[in-house]
Amino acid sequence: PQRGELLLDVDRIRKQFGGLVAVNDVSFQIRAGEIIGLIGPNGAGKSTTFNLVSGVLSATSGRVQFRGQPVAGLGSRQIAERGMSRTFQHVKMVADMTVLENVALGGHLRSRAGMVASMLRLNASEERQLFAEAEAQLRRIGMAEQMHELAGNLALGPQRLMEIARALCSDPSLLLLDEPAAGLRHKEKQALAAVLRQLQDEGLSILLVEHDMEFVMGLTDRLVVMEFGTKLIEGTPQEVQDSPIVRAAYLGT
Ligand code: ADP
Ligand code: MG
Repeated sequence: PQRGELLLDVDRIRKQFGGLVAVNDVSFQIRAGEIIGLIGPNGAGKSTTFNLVSGVLSATSGRVQFRGQPVAGLGSRQIAERGMSRTFQHVKMVADMTVLENVALGGHLRSRAGMVASMLRLNASEERQLFAEAEAQLRRIGMAEQMHELAGNLALGPQRLMEIARALCSDPSLLLLDEPAAGLRHKEKQALAAVLRQLQDEGLSILLVEHDMEFVMGLTDRLVVMEFGTKLIEGTPQEVQDSPIVRAAYLGT
């Protein structure tokens, strides 16, 4: 996509779980090249919004379009083929396999046995291709050195980067990251932010759900602030920080 092109169009989405309205008429857009943060207190509806965008959940009403086409009804594989890729809040990996193996076989990550079985199903050329792609993505984000370490021996920061490498293997134009900075130490957050800025420079767009205000303030182009299922405000980090509504509702000042 060309920089500035409309990539994701979230139009008045609503999600009800029984009597509870988890997401209530939320709209926002992402243009190619942007890093957008979705923030708000616990229970605000961020994860549900994220799941609606990535097609994990279907909306009660409203619609999500990615590059002009509805996301509803597509499987995760089709969504990835169109260029949307996501990570999950909790790292998914097989601890006693290498970083490279975890990235290459990321689609089959239920267990070590599952990964081995999937490896056996591949022919030699398919396997070579998966591993070459995984290696290229690990190098891209500066993880060449850790490629052959066991995933379980990595600190949380590099584990999160490993997940980003895996998400990059499907060559996405939009990357969805669920709380990528949660639990990271200051240095690890800085390393993560540097990788995300690099990916943005390379033309990727990123939507991240995040709790860490400091992290999103320095990184994102725009923030969507949610509360009680609705969009409270949307603006640049500075606009959001200066907003009396947000200060009252979210920052508690
Ligand atoms: P956040 O990610 O901002 O903390 P969530 O999107 O997880 O918020 O949750 C929003 C609201 O929807 C919460 O009240 C939560 O309990 C509720 N909720 C989320 N998922 C489900 C579900 N699968 N079934 C019922 N209620 C849910
Ligand atoms: Mg959540």
